[in-house]
Amino acid sequence: MSSLVGELLFLARHEGLIAADSLQPIDLKRLVSDLFTEWLPQANSHQLRLTSQLPNETVMVKADASLLRQSIANLLSNACRYTSAGGTIQLRLLIDRQQAMIQVEDSGIGIPTAALSHVFERFYRVDAKRSKASGGFGLGLAISDQIVRAHGGQISVHSILEQGSTFQIALPLLSNGEPLLAEIGQQKFL
Ligand code: ATP
Ligand code: MG
Repeated sequence: MSSLVGELLFLARHEGLIAADSLQPIDLKRLVSDLFTEWLPQANSHQLRLTSQLPNETVMVKADASLLRQSIANLLSNACRYTSAGGTIQLRLLIDRQQAMIQVEDSGIGIPTAALSHVFERFYRVDAKRSKASGGFGLGLAISDQIVRAHGGQISVHSILEQGSTFQIALPLLSNGEPLLAEIGQQKFL
């Protein structure tokens, strides 16, 4: 129950945008690579094969590193929870035009099409029965969504039932030392 209260407080506290001074330029390749190393033991303990794919170049974004880390960790936690032993999880970082893309792809139980538009809602769980006994409150994806939006990004999901799911976080890249989003925002106010 205390973790539920903590998560609800988190959602309430971080409603809206993050204070500008807690956003710092961060090397996303480093962050994703660290997460990969941290999650290997967890994946191994579930008999899952976790692999990573990182670009050659450094990927800079403006972010609150610990919040962003939590939003990706929630996806890795789900991938471990909703994939049966013997399955695979791929953690990827890609660059597509002016965006950094973080993808977590699993070979797990998948999500029915009708449920896809609800998974980011607070307390939504597809089906308590099919989730493993260690199931949570249905808040992880709502928290990830809120964090990603607060960074000017988007989170999305593609899934096929009984085949697997891919969650993707898209974030604006730092361009010429300034985040693209801030530049667009500034123009709006002028
Ligand atoms: P919590 O994250 O609060 O501990 P949770 O995992 O149930 O609990 P969310 O992370 O918000 O909550 O996910 C919502 C629901 O979406 C889950 O209950 C599950 O049914 C479905 N889901 C999320 N990720 C996956 C996935 N990778 N594969 C299959 N289903 C998923
Ligand atoms: Mg979860």
